[in-house]
Amino acid sequence: MVAHLRLNHPELVRGWFADLSLGAFSGGVVEILAINPAQIEYLDHHCRAVFVAAAQAATGRLVSIEFQERAPSGEKAEPDPSVASRSNGELKLNPDYSFEHFVTGPCNRLAHAAALAVSEDPGRVYNPFFIYGSVGLGKTHLLQAVCHGVRTRHPQLRLHYISCETFINDFIEAIETGALHQFRYRYRHADLLVIDDVQFLAERERSQEEFFHTFNTLYQSQRQIILSADCPPTDIPSLEERLVSRFNSGLVAMLELPCLETRMAIVRKKAKLRCIPVPENVIRLIAGRINANIRELEGALLKLDALSQMKGTPIDLDLAREALLPLDARPVKIPVILEAVARKFNVKVSDLQGKRRSKAITYPRHVSMYLARRLTHQSLEEIGGYFGGRDHSTVLHASRAISEQVDGDPAVRELVEELAAEVRTTVGY
Ligand code: ADP
Ligand code: MG
Repeated sequence: MVAHLRLNHPELVRGWFADLSLGAFSGGVVEILAINPAQIEYLDHHCRAVFVAAAQAATGRLVSIEFQERAPSGEKAEPDPSVASRSNGELKLNPDYSFEHFVTGPCNRLAHAAALAVSEDPGRVYNPFFIYGSVGLGKTHLLQAVCHGVRTRHPQLRLHYISCETFINDFIEAIETGALHQFRYRYRHADLLVIDDVQFLAERERSQEEFFHTFNTLYQSQRQIILSADCPPTDIPSLEERLVSRFNSGLVAMLELPCLETRMAIVRKKAKLRCIPVPENVIRLIAGRINANIRELEGALLKLDALSQMKGTPIDLDLAREALLPLDARPVKIPVILEAVARKFNVKVSDLQGKRRSKAITYPRHVSMYLARRLTHQSLEEIGGYFGGRDHSTVLHASRAISEQVDGDPAVRELVEELAAEVRTTVGY
């Protein structure tokens, strides 16, 4: 079945698929057994349809698939209490984002060591723990690695892992529905509160106020607080001084740009994780060309894998040069597009990249994605990376929707042509 997947959907395959096993087959249902809930979640979300197709191809019958956790053995026999918090939609962990899959180097050693220490002894060592660094350098990965670690080592702890946006939205909803009490109970009874991208608290006075109290309550009872942002606490625009000093009172660790050695180790690790055979000289080529964003490094690897599958040839230097060529040749960079669109619609670049869903933001955001597809050679996944890590299908839908409007509505066409011309002029082609 995995072979079928590898052939048809190489982007979905993970190294740990080797650990999956076949369970019961009865009543037309094939059970696939995985090791932990994060794997099941991944399989459920991304792989159901292709597993069904593979199972039907293998059995020649109409069957469906159930993903189950393998019957626990020995010491692992306790139920996983974090399942409770997951079921209300808060905890979505990517099984790829574990410590095991995180490569360390001079750029991230401190952040990694601290994260590991926190996952072993939450609430006691570094509290709060604040990670910052620019986009694609591993903040979300490290945060989730801590969550995986805590789940394994301290399954009894209540873990609350959310994006800052969820906190803000939950808070607004709680005010609107008069459910502040429940909101506070939920947030203030966590043993670990992990919030990604807290730079979105910028200029949100009431949410900051609420967060300040949540923070104090947790902190005073020695509960662990872990935060990430794209800049240090002091640089988050209009973040209240008392919050800045709270954030600074624990450990603030920076993720820096990885050096060549680390980038090579990351490509090697990602290739292994996705079962892509890549020779050393190709690893060096990829890591040498891409140095600013680890997500792009991964994107290049996937592009190369896709090209190799398509041509039916193994990955070698020539193929890698071909796959990477557009990266060098592309004249337009996404930030230029973002700036032009932000100017035109009078919104902030950070809003285009953020998660707000008001029409005033989503429309220009979709236009940006459309232009990114048209004017750059970056993959859907890479483009998504510039928009807060949205996935490829979001980018695809957005750019298709705009593309349809361009076809059908002369006003939209004029707007995007004007923007495209402006972007081209900026980069001089
Ligand atoms: P951020 O949240 O800082 O924007 P992410 O955590 O989403 O970045 O990381 C982007 C991609 O790069 C992810 O696929 C992640 O697994 C990978 N990545 C980042 N740092 C490392 C690392 N040190 N080792 C392995 N993979 C990494
Ligand atoms: Mg992130």
